[in-house]
Amino acid sequence: MLRTHTCGELRLSKNGKKVTLCGWVQKSRDLGGMTFIDIRDRYGITQLVFNMETNAGLCSNARKIGREFVICATGIVKERSNKNFNIPTGEIEIVVQEFKVLNKSEVPPFTIEEETDGGEELRMKYRYLDLRRNPVKKNIILRYEMAREVRKYLDLKEFIEIETPVLIKSTPEGARDFVVPSRLKAGEFYALPQSPQTFKQLLMISGFDKYFQLVKCFRDEDFRADRQPEFTQIDCEMSFVERDDILETFEGLAKHLFKKIRDFDYKDAFPRLPYNEALEKYGTDKPDTRFEMLIQDITELAKGKGFKVFDSVEYIGGICVKGGAEYSRKKLDALTDFVRKPQIGATGLVYVKLNNDGTVKSSVDKFFNREELDKWTGNMEGENGDILLVLAGDRKKTLYALSKLRLEMGKQLGLMDKNTFTPLWVVDFPLLEWDDESQRYHAMHHPFTSAIKDDFHLFKTDPGKIRANAYDLVINGVEIGGGSIRIHDKQKQAEMFRLLGFSPEEAENQFGFLMNAFKYGAPPHGGIAFGFDRWVTLFGGTDSIRDYIAFPKNTAGRDVMIDTPSVLSDEQLRELSLKVVNK
Ligand code: ASP
Repeated sequence: MLRTHTCGELRLSKNGKKVTLCGWVQKSRDLGGMTFIDIRDRYGITQLVFNMETNAGLCSNARKIGREFVICATGIVKERSNKNFNIPTGEIEIVVQEFKVLNKSEVPPFTIEEETDGGEELRMKYRYLDLRRNPVKKNIILRYEMAREVRKYLDLKEFIEIETPVLIKSTPEGARDFVVPSRLKAGEFYALPQSPQTFKQLLMISGFDKYFQLVKCFRDEDFRADRQPEFTQIDCEMSFVERDDILETFEGLAKHLFKKIRDFDYKDAFPRLPYNEALEKYGTDKPDTRFEMLIQDITELAKGKGFKVFDSVEYIGGICVKGGAEYSRKKLDALTDFVRKPQIGATGLVYVKLNNDGTVKSSVDKFFNREELDKWTGNMEGENGDILLVLAGDRKKTLYALSKLRLEMGKQLGLMDKNTFTPLWVVDFPLLEWDDESQRYHAMHHPFTSAIKDDFHLFKTDPGKIRANAYDLVINGVEIGGGSIRIHDKQKQAEMFRLLGFSPEEAENQFGFLMNAFKYGAPPHGGIAFGFDRWVTLFGGTDSIRDYIAFPKNTAGRDVMIDTPSVLSDEQLRELSLKVVNK
């Protein structure tokens, strides 16, 4: 190699040793007769020193080197007189005897420092420079370390990693597919996998009873801050298992990662929360359980008392916020504006202040007397000094709005510490979801999910009530992963497709290969997939999954560095037998 050491490894113990380092110029400064250059590589930063008195030629050459030049310097390790204890190499410097410029650099478009002056768009355009910055580099290394630990754990448990194809036929995971035109078969298309779901099930039929894969998946969805059109899953499947075997195995994986990545010994079993309870108490199937502030249903107590707004609704519920009795008019107005935002969807906010002096002041004093309000307080376990925040409306929508209000209050009160982790399993999801628009059921997870045995009888009578043998791992309000015990019986799978509105021909056409495989000894099986990018983001402690992807797309799904999506040449379109019709 061109170097003897990296820029992060030299210490006082190497005092007097001749070394050669290679790296990028972080910065250089001239102080009287001396020039100091910080040289950086992936491993760290080391100070080089050039002395005008002892080697004027070398020193004046060094003064010509600019930021981000790539250099190779040879010299002697020396104890520094002015030590910098903030960096691991800060007790030494290299007295340079010779150096070479390996490559020059233009002035970079933003400063390559911990805190940069470059905005997001600019940094994404020059992502390769952004990746030189410590905070970004650290994230990419964290991602690698997590992937390594995932592989170590699963290897120990005798899982094997098997690749599945990327050019496939559409998989129904609920999102739109990205498609790839076939040149050889004009008018035919491949789809990119939303997940390797059917392939991993086929691998179970092949007898590979413990499969995993760190795999790219593709979903053509509308963009949101925490979404990327291509993302990575830790995709897993096991044979001869029941739900608890899967939960135990992957709770083990989560605990392994907590230990290795966050040095956190998670001893207790993860709580298991039925879906219905999650909705009732937290208003969401992704509850953030770092704090309580549970939602309470007060429909019975508050309805039918002559307050029109409440009397006509399906559901009334609220949360009790500690210390909220002190909230000013302005603050309450701001909270009202918050719940009224279109994406939250509430029509208004009712409050009850439980003042410290024992008096009660509410926004509905005209309609509810003290005795009635005391009942609400009792139900919500309010105490003097608290405030009750109440929303009313359609049950599902109101619970959703309450879940958002709860999170907002949790944020405002600092109850969502990034270094506290509260994992849990959400279980017993409904198997099906009724869709008003298409007037049919959709699979809540996917069509290969089996029902809980106790609910089989409901298939004929009340399909909407069937519970799925499905589970999600949720950590701090983030859905980290989800999976299910699968259907492995041809008849049952056919019945499921029928419930989902597939004609036998459609089912055959799309999933004939799977149904066919079920004829040849399909073992009972189940699995799970984790959103790897999200998990790394959670452990890394910042908000955007883009921070943990080497070359991410922006929020509009664009890669601004390579500038894509982009148009195809007429020649390419012709070869693919495609024509672009302007909308
Ligand atoms: N394929 C599913 C998904 O991507 C996960 C699973 O059921 O294993 O959500």
